[in-house]
Amino acid sequence: MRMADGIRERGFRRWHERTLLASHGWLAGAIVAAFAAFGSLEAVLGSDAWVDRAGFTLAAFFCGAVTLSALRRFLLALVRAQRAAAQAECSGCHTFGRLEVIDAAAGSQCVRVRCRACGQAWTMDDG
Ligand SMILES: [Zn+2]
Repeated sequence: MRMADGIRERGFRRWHERTLLASHGWLAGAIVAAFAAFGSLEAVLGSDAWVDRAGFTLAAFFCGAVTLSALRRFLLALVRAQRAAAQAECSGCHTFGRLEVIDAAAGSQCVRVRCRACGQAWTMDDG
């Protein structure tokens, strides 16, 4: 979901909170997949038949790929939420996160927002 749409639907603070929760969901998925990958590697070492070894090796590679993908999504979402939070404080009254979207062009990463407390406007980058 685009940051501008998320802010319009839920407000900045809830969008930020949900983005952080989603990122940590990916982290939990990465941990589970890493356990599965290491379990598969251990099973490779403990099996004698080549069919079992081939199956466990494939499982280890698959789980490793899922781990890396989930870690990547975790980091992207975390960085996105933190970058947005760093731009969410009004320079006029120092209020954090009480803002509304006043302009967000489709396809653009820039979002023009306004402070709900004092009305100061600024541009946030969702890149
Ligand atoms: Zn303000």
